Amino acid sequence: MEEVMEDSAAELTQEKSAATQPEKGYAISVKGLHRSFMNVKAVNGVSFDVPHGAVCGFVGANGAGKTTTMRILSTLDYPSGGKVEVCGLNVVYFPHEVRKIIGWMPDHFGKYQHLTCEEYLDFFARAVGLKGEERKERMEDVIDFVGLAPLRDRLSNKLSKGQTQRLGLARALLHDPQVLIMDEPAAGLDPKARVELKHLIRVLAEEGKTILVSSHILSELAEMCDSLLFINEGRIVYHGDAESLIEQNEASASVVYNVELAENYERLAEWVSLNPGIEYVETTKKGGRIRILNNDPKERVAVLAAMVRDGLPVVEYHKEERKLEDAFIDVLGNINTSTEEV
Ligand code: ATP
Repeated sequence: MEEVMEDSAAELTQEKSAATQPEKGYAISVKGLHRSFMNVKAVNGVSFDVPHGAVCGFVGANGAGKTTTMRILSTLDYPSGGKVEVCGLNVVYFPHEVRKIIGWMPDHFGKYQHLTCEEYLDFFARAVGLKGEERKERMEDVIDFVGLAPLRDRLSNKLSKGQTQRLGLARALLHDPQVLIMDEPAAGLDPKARVELKHLIRVLAEEGKTILVSSHILSELAEMCDSLLFINEGRIVYHGDAESLIEQNEASASVVYNVELAENYERLAEWVSLNPGIEYVETTKKGGRIRILNNDPKERVAVLAAMVRDGLPVVEYHKEERKLEDAFIDVLGNINTSTEEV
């Protein structure tokens, strides 16, 4: 907090003027963000920018620091240090202004026992200052947009997970925010609901909204996001697009092979355990997935030759398309290795 307060009055004036020109600069700008809870460094020097109109996926393991970062962006928590701006407005100095331009969709939110969906949205529409006809129109717009019309009279605490997420999105959109922060919106949704959510997010981006969305499902994020932001133990470990990450890691990283045997499938795991330079990833129906740590093509030939030499009845041996998950794991692996080396 002390570091945050060091900014000068001149800077505050500049920030106010930046807010009147929202298309200038970045929609989200985070510089050297720190947040500690007692001795836990939840966020440890995070910096990133998200341009206006972009969808940015926020990825990281449980406890990596996503929610903490998002809560600070949404003015629900204070940084311990660093600078966080939304459309040029510092979230610490201008929380009220930031709330007008930001929509926050938390992973869980409270609902009122006796309010229907419509009443619930009406309550929040009033809370964000919408009045009269404008409030009614805006409510109809968001109800329509998220597909809540058939459920408008249903009690808000009687909704399924997917329906609750729709209500949460409708609530976050009531005041037509420029920036939307979504914490795990796809968690617990069935495949159809996830596809629909992806579609809604893309439509919002096409309307020019900037979206920061967290998820653990990398493939899904890659499909709907312009860039991915990976966080690990409170630090950003990658920010860029999914394709570049896969390409960047492909040349140097390990490769995964799918191996099928004609019989005695369990022999594969045993064989891998006896051979250095290869890791057993998982068992499949007729064999398993193995990771060859050296990406030299000669090594891959040598592995196949060794399996055959040792009597494994290999009927299938093919390289898997590199997945985003593999690239992410390699990024984390590289970090751990360099930390160990220090
Ligand atoms: P998940 O994917 O599980 O939601 P996350 O990446 O959102 O995780 P955070 O909720 O940001 O992670 O938590 C980061 C770290 O900070 C965790 O170690 C967590 O226990 C800790 N933490 C978060 N909020 C608090 C708090 N209010 N008090 C103490 N520790 C906290």
